[in-house]
Amino acid sequence: MLSYLISFLDFHVSFHHLHFLKCGILNSNQYNCLKGYHMADKLTKEHRSWNMSRIKGKDTSIEVLVRKALFRDGFRFRKNVKQLPGKPDIVLSKYKTVIFVHGCFWHGHTCKEAHIPKSNSEFWLNKITRNVDNDKKHTEQLTSLGWHVITVWECQIEKHFDETIASIENELRDQLNK
Ligand SMILES: [Zn+2]
Repeated sequence: MLSYLISFLDFHVSFHHLHFLKCGILNSNQYNCLKGYHMADKLTKEHRSWNMSRIKGKDTSIEVLVRKALFRDGFRFRKNVKQLPGKPDIVLSKYKTVIFVHGCFWHGHTCKEAHIPKSNSEFWLNKITRNVDNDKKHTEQLTSLGWHVITVWECQIEKHFDETIASIENELRDQLNK
């Protein structure tokens, strides 16, 4: 029994060690990294890019980056407000402004990050078109309720972070003077 346990532990340790090597360093994505490892080789390119978009498009890195920067600069907000159309990611009531932080792929941004995979393109096109239509509808609804709507794109955040934050903050300050 003991030797069984030892060999089991040994297997486990080297198993994890292998993953950490494969994925680089120990980080908060460790779990996804572990999960993804087995699948990676079996996934088609399209599936992988879908996975990436899904991960990128979630309430993770880009939204958190924007929230942190705004908070640092003294702006206070609520997040993911369900009562408002489209459940905006960031709601700044004092400025009567909502912010959507959109993943380029899912929300059909006109940038190269958002290319539709070649296989199954009709499926993707339908899905993304539906998102784009919903985004447009939500913006109209929010505007008619008196909200100023800012859309921030993933690619802007990734490539021009400081400028994007500065421009959001300028827009917010302008809202106070209206
Ligand atoms: Zn983009």
